Amino acid sequence: MGICQESVYDHESHENVVGRDWLRFFFLEIDPLNFILPLLLASFGFSADPAPKVVYIKAGHLFDGTGDSTRAGCVIQVEGDRIKAVGSFREIPIPDGAEVIDLSRFTILPGLIDCHTHLGSRADRYDEINKFKDTPNHSAFAAVLNAKTTLEAGFTTVRDVGSRPFLAVDLRESIDEGFLVGPRIVASGPGISITGGHGDLNRYAPQVRISMFPEERDFKIADGIDQVRQVVRAQIKHGVDVIKVNASGGVLSRGDAPGAPQYSVEELKVLVEEAHAAGRKVAAHAHGAQGIKNAVIAGVDSIEHGSLIDDEGIKLMVERGTWLVADIYNDDYLLGKAVEFKLPQESIDKEKAIGQLQRDNFAKAVKAGVKVAYGTDAGVYPHGDNGKQFYYMVKYGLTPAQAIRSATSDAAELLGKSQSVGKVAPGMFADLIAVENDPLANIRALENVRFVMKGGAVIKSEKTPINLSIRDVKNSPLHDQNPLSASSPPSTIATPGANPASPR
Ligand SMILES: [Zn+2]
Repeated sequence: MGICQESVYDHESHENVVGRDWLRFFFLEIDPLNFILPLLLASFGFSADPAPKVVYIKAGHLFDGTGDSTRAGCVIQVEGDRIKAVGSFREIPIPDGAEVIDLSRFTILPGLIDCHTHLGSRADRYDEINKFKDTPNHSAFAAVLNAKTTLEAGFTTVRDVGSRPFLAVDLRESIDEGFLVGPRIVASGPGISITGGHGDLNRYAPQVRISMFPEERDFKIADGIDQVRQVVRAQIKHGVDVIKVNASGGVLSRGDAPGAPQYSVEELKVLVEEAHAAGRKVAAHAHGAQGIKNAVIAGVDSIEHGSLIDDEGIKLMVERGTWLVADIYNDDYLLGKAVEFKLPQESIDKEKAIGQLQRDNFAKAVKAGVKVAYGTDAGVYPHGDNGKQFYYMVKYGLTPAQAIRSATSDAAELLGKSQSVGKVAPGMFADLIAVENDPLANIRALENVRFVMKGGAVIKSEKTPINLSIRDVKNSPLHDQNPLSASSPPSTIATPGANPASPR
């Protein structure tokens, strides 16, 4: 039972053993034949690379990211970081002595995709004073932990839509080079905002500033088509994959109304034109009906939240094929735990006004045939709980298979990554998860992912229980928080969120 062998991933060094074997070949086993032969081969145009590692995975059931059902009894052949073949036991005979991962008790799915995260945000930092206390380093530290937690929850790819400049880009690069453990990241810069809008710092005394880059307006505040064009170009210059724009007010920002449009259609059109010209998609934060329509007419690729969408907006989204990324889980958290973490009353009131409406409108949009991609606003609630939204998506109108596709093949389509992630098929990255039970019968199976493979490397399995998460560890500060108290009671580090980027 369980996993027979797993040796693809080295938890000490976080590197793929395929790569390490290659290093050993060159640096440790330098007998003349091994040393000279590759050089000779190379001189004749042959590659000296050893054959990539091959692993066979036995799947009890497989949902490959497409269709409406699972297949029983499959084998997935993984070669290096890619899937080489998928088929029945008869179609893919497992050679004697081959490395096998036995997941016969489990249902295997593609690694999940969350199209709306804020890896630099913590869900326990709602007290407004933190906006002025936290340095960018706080966000970066949170992001390192949150990335790992997200991957261990089975989300092997995320789109990060709003962080300090340019945290998500740097995180993406550190993960891609193998220095940090985390999901593949499609990175945005800060969400672009009008002055006084969802991305701005509003209703404090005018002399209050937390700007890091005043000359560049923190790479996010832009008014009028010239500034909009410039800020998109500046973000692209610094390596973003996607442009995030705030096309309406928000819940977690001060002094603006979620229903109010922000930016004119003219400004949004310039933003989209500039982004698309550079091959970047656009994700538009929009709660309000008019903001949603403005953004859709301007040609954005996805509407984030979509809370107050009306019939006209739904019709436009269907006509234009605009994706809806609706974060319909986090209302529970915002009106629950977040209140304990000093969520300001203004935000509580806004959330109470739109939370249920968002879920009802999501159901309407689904019924009308709007394309849906999975996105949760992780960071508003604790990272790692990303899978909790599946239940709500099914409750509000998707079939379980549709909900899973929204987080696999459909999400990959929105991200423009259909050729590499979101399906269990030959040629795709070997990003796989396994759950007990049938997620088509009980969607909540996806809240408890038991096995995670990313790019052929085993990240989590029954044989490699994940390290104690920091949130499970009692905090024993070396230096007493209160120097006057002889013994301060132990406190618990809460789960990650400050929200420098004003999600939701
Ligand atoms: Zn967000």
